[in-house]
Amino acid sequence: MHPASVGGSISLETDNRGERSERAARRCFRGRLAFLGPKLGAWGPTQSCSAAPNCAISEAQPRKGAGRGTAYRPGNSLRNVRFVLNANQETGAVGPAEAPHRRLSNWGGLGGAYDTKVYPAKSLCSHCGLCDTRYITYVRDSCAFLNQHIAELEQKVHGRSRALDSEDELYFGVFQSMLVARKKKPIAGAQWTGIVSSLAIAMLESGLVEGVVCVQSSKDDRFKPVPVIARNRAEILAARVNKPTLSPNLSVLDAVERSGIKRLLFIGVGCQVEALRSVQDRIGLEKLYVLGTPCVDNVTRAGLQKFLDTTSSSPETVVYYEFMQDFRVHFKHDDSVIGGPGRKWDEIVPFFALNTKELKEVFAPSCLSCFDYVNGLADLVVGYMGAPFGWQWLVARNETGLEMLELARQVCGLEEGPVDACGDRRAAVQQSITAYDRALTLPRWIAEFLAIIIGKIGPKGLEYARFSIDSHFTRNYLYVRRRYPEKLDAHVPEYAKRIVSQYKLPDT
Ligand code: FAD
Ligand code: SF4
Repeated sequence: MHPASVGGSISLETDNRGERSERAARRCFRGRLAFLGPKLGAWGPTQSCSAAPNCAISEAQPRKGAGRGTAYRPGNSLRNVRFVLNANQETGAVGPAEAPHRRLSNWGGLGGAYDTKVYPAKSLCSHCGLCDTRYITYVRDSCAFLNQHIAELEQKVHGRSRALDSEDELYFGVFQSMLVARKKKPIAGAQWTGIVSSLAIAMLESGLVEGVVCVQSSKDDRFKPVPVIARNRAEILAARVNKPTLSPNLSVLDAVERSGIKRLLFIGVGCQVEALRSVQDRIGLEKLYVLGTPCVDNVTRAGLQKFLDTTSSSPETVVYYEFMQDFRVHFKHDDSVIGGPGRKWDEIVPFFALNTKELKEVFAPSCLSCFDYVNGLADLVVGYMGAPFGWQWLVARNETGLEMLELARQVCGLEEGPVDACGDRRAAVQQSITAYDRALTLPRWIAEFLAIIIGKIGPKGLEYARFSIDSHFTRNYLYVRRRYPEKLDAHVPEYAKRIVSQYKLPDT
């Protein structure tokens, strides 16, 4: 989820001097508006935006005959996979023989066996899946929540750790190329335009990799993640769209090793990637590609239900949602809501109308103590936070990432543009820190009004990304400082300490 939850009450917040006037303002609508007015000044633009120019690159056609079992290189051992692994009866794709998602049928709260098995990181565990494999042996060194070692892994994976004196690298990690893009023909049902799924398909069908670790959904519950090793286009497409719940992607690692796969694409979020990078030399791979997405404010299945019940007018029909750069949550509902098949329904809720008090408790402790929002150890990252509305944000971190980006350019039918930034986030972030602590929520009509105003004059592009990072890092820093003070120094990476140090935090 998004700073929405953090910054949802940004403009109502004030410093100590303003406490009395804030109380008065909250008593009447007129007062509220008058109170909010000056706060909007914090969002004023400091430089102009330029539109991302379109660059036409031809849409490649899918390779004829591509499908189940046709995509691997001659001589690989994938033909044996079906005998080694159980086919997943829910999705048809290949999973581990005793897939954790089967043993652990209940994802609520964390739920099921996840509540009875003790994971080494205890309440901070993000259920990345590593400890459901034999690689649990290496958990002490590998787990993102037991041994934060991002700088060391950056050195190993990218050849250097991020340059802390470069604002871009301080925020976005090591990179060689950063751009915005979108597919000219978006994949229906993808989270954004489907760059992740179409690149994964291209890598598989070109023979660059033999399998793709990705996350499908359970047939019973579209939000229940089912990690798989996909081996054809259909299985990758079945994994499109976010499952906005903690997902044990690494739980298929034993299966990867048994399968004999030598060239693998892993799609995943930061905590999964940090653990994977720590054990990658032990899996018997010749080449590992990591296609990462940013990730923030993930939830357990029970937490997700609470979010949907609290925020959407039709929780049971939500297909997917996203906290968008226009300061609104966009829900997509299934066809049952209105009009029958083909009549998708969008529901839009301004960030500032979210019930922050209720929602504060839904985020997983792992996500409230995470400082790898931008997936600093992936080869290529595909998100949206640094891009204009409707576009995706691509960060190639190293040579492998550039290779993946080049393939995407050749076959994914991308329209591209440069990254841009405008606005100034800092005053708004400072205000959001105490606003979040006090869990303030605005009436819907004021929230709508604010979303319009801030959408016009608020931070955009990379400045929006920095706003979101600052809001989350300050919140998470306070969370760790309050709940796990003994871990604070070692757990917070140096780049995050520098980012947080720009702001005044509450003393307690
Ligand atoms: P698609 O083609 O739809 O593919 C989505 C891919 O995501 C699939 O391959 C699937 O395997 C994988 N996936 C789905 N759910 C999970 C999961 N729970 N764990 C790991 N992998 C998963 N981007 C931002 O810029 N800012 C954010 O704050 C942000 N938060 C995110 C939070 C979560 C939990 C996730 C999963 C992603 C988040 N992203 C964020 C990334 C963004 O929402 C899109 O996933 C990304 O831009 C790719 O879009 P797409 O259309 O190319 O993906
Ligand atoms: Fe194990 Fe992953 Fe949980 Fe850490 S986060 S304890 S590596 S399952």
